[in-house]
Amino acid sequence: MYKKGEGVPDFVLLNQITENAFIENLITRHKSDQIYTYIGDVVISSNPFKKMNIYNESDIKSYNGRYKYEMPPHIYALANDAYRSMRQNQEKQCVIISGESGAGKTEASKKIMQFLAYVSNKATLEGDKITKMLLESNPLLEAFGNAKTLRNDNSSRFGKYMEMQFSPSGVPTGGKITNYLLEKSRVVGRASGERSFHIFYQMLKGLSQAKLTELGLTSAAQTYQYLKSSNCVDVATIDDVADFKAVVRAMETLGLKENEQSSIWRILGAILHIGNITFEELPEQKVGQVSVGIKDPKALAAAANCLKVEPTQLTRALTYRSINTGVGRRMSVIAVPLDNVQAIFSRDALAKALYERLFQWLVTRINHEINANEKGLVIGILDIYGFEVFDRNSFEQLNINYCNEKLQQLFIELTLKSEQEEYIREGIEWKNIDYFNNKPICELIEKKPMGLISLLDESCLIAKSTDQTFLGQITNTFDKNQHFQSYQSTKDRSIGENCFRLKHYAGDVTYDVSGFLDKNKDTLFVDLINSMQLSADPLIRSIFPSPKPEDSKRRPETAGSQFRTAINALITTLLACSPHYVRCIKSNDNKQAGVIDEERVRHQVRYLGLLENVRVRRAGFANRQTYERFSQRYKMTCKQTWPTFRGSPKQAVEAIIAAHGIAKDEFRLGKTKIFIRNPTTLFYFEEKREEE
Ligand code: ATP
Ligand code: MG
Repeated sequence: MYKKGEGVPDFVLLNQITENAFIENLITRHKSDQIYTYIGDVVISSNPFKKMNIYNESDIKSYNGRYKYEMPPHIYALANDAYRSMRQNQEKQCVIISGESGAGKTEASKKIMQFLAYVSNKATLEGDKITKMLLESNPLLEAFGNAKTLRNDNSSRFGKYMEMQFSPSGVPTGGKITNYLLEKSRVVGRASGERSFHIFYQMLKGLSQAKLTELGLTSAAQTYQYLKSSNCVDVATIDDVADFKAVVRAMETLGLKENEQSSIWRILGAILHIGNITFEELPEQKVGQVSVGIKDPKALAAAANCLKVEPTQLTRALTYRSINTGVGRRMSVIAVPLDNVQAIFSRDALAKALYERLFQWLVTRINHEINANEKGLVIGILDIYGFEVFDRNSFEQLNINYCNEKLQQLFIELTLKSEQEEYIREGIEWKNIDYFNNKPICELIEKKPMGLISLLDESCLIAKSTDQTFLGQITNTFDKNQHFQSYQSTKDRSIGENCFRLKHYAGDVTYDVSGFLDKNKDTLFVDLINSMQLSADPLIRSIFPSPKPEDSKRRPETAGSQFRTAINALITTLLACSPHYVRCIKSNDNKQAGVIDEERVRHQVRYLGLLENVRVRRAGFANRQTYERFSQRYKMTCKQTWPTFRGSPKQAVEAIIAAHGIAKDEFRLGKTKIFIRNPTTLFYFEEKREEE
């Protein structure tokens, strides 16, 4: 089935299971344009960084309904398996795609959706409409949620779990998107050479001149401080004009009305104008009381115009802060003027809040169109921001990398740990295979009450805390933890004085604590919320609901603990599905076609635990089923068990196996289940069943 010189299609088939043999196979395959290879059911994908001629309609057709072993490895084969398992077993499925930034996760998720949409669409009007909408949600959300980073020209800056919903017979009925923590700080700043979210550049190049004029915008991105600051506007691999057209088309397909689209452009325009607002100190009104006014009224007026609020109200909200004083009937509100630093903080907070809330609104709006809300079958596809290390890493990277730790842990749990535990539980002879377990680092971050997130929350509650006292506290707490280092604890100069280092499964990352407390608290002054509520635009009003009275008593949940809760809920959702895995490998750091960097690949193969995966898989069994299920499904293929059988389900299985003369090494009989070594044996039974 495979040609010489092209490597083996499944790493399990390697003559020797060594790291070198593994890497050699991966490189050989990559060089001969075979970017997919299996480890049993897991798909390993190496990023080709060039257009591959393997995703045509004819390719979809040739994988549709086939068994994996009949065709060369492909992501379509995995999608096909998920679709088949869903219908055959009437079970929810999920596809978990992991790999570092730029490894190809988002591309993989789109290929899977494309395949599923094609094969499940039974050309009904409704099914057609739904699949179109599901597919069109991709360009729309990528425009708002992706950006050019140093690692990837189309880097996902939010996490996404997309469920495709199906009827019991496998006809698409709808979909649901769950989004995770958008990196909103990107709106106001980012590393040099990176861009803000694609949509800003698309909009400036794509909107009509009349529309730009209405919003007070010019098409030159350099005019806007928020875009100008990172010295990157045009990207060779990106066609903003064409992408803008695709976004507008997607908005239309998804049923976004004219006035909704118009509000979206207004909010985005407002954000750009807000970034150009600067402040200047006013003459002291009282001794020692500093206050600021708006330096450039033009930018403020333009922002107010886009937001449909009164300029005076916006000015007031940006330069003053209301504080409650007194208690009970004596309670009153006083307005305290902000100084320059505080005013800039509140300005940026407003821009970030506008963007984040617009993004959330968009996801909710799409769900409103597509969610069938049925308790039917689903295939969920998880595409989240990959593990990342920059020169400077902050709160955002901590969250992103924490999320990747959790997914790695899930992979270990499902493919290495529980697999081995099951053999032992079932009384199958088994020699344990060691693997690196990243549970301790997950606990360091998320454990209550003494993990990093909890300690950060605690610091946020204490008025006197600063980023530095937080650093001091975690240094004390994790003094003896081998996954944690700081300059204070090690005197290692490579860790800055403001930094701590975590030993992640995928490598060491040094985090700078500057801004941690503010980012975690994520406060938006109530004055800003109030001013947005006065907007004449219903969409803007709707994304800034007034705080409920009961909320004022409760502490607002911090960004960190919200994320922890969301990720743990995600893990619970994934655990309720039959999982399918795609492990993406980044072939090189320069986005180059035809180049595969051995050392970079070696590093990824190690931290992804791929060799251990092969070992467990090779020594183990590809499939297991309870005696009940197996005997029910294949009883008609054997004279003794069909039409009736008097013994136990286990005896029935024994009779079926014997009747077909299955080789002794091909299966094991556990306490409650039969274990089958090769998928081909199962395919054999499936064929026999169909013959009957
Ligand atoms: P991040 O974590 O930053 O979001 P990612 O893993 O989602 O990264 P992608 O955006 O999917 O990475 O891929 C990065 C780039 O690599 C793509 O824009 C594309 O140029 C290229 N690429 C990835 N997969 C493929 C593929 N199967 N065929 C051709 N090119 C690909
Ligand atoms: Mg991505």
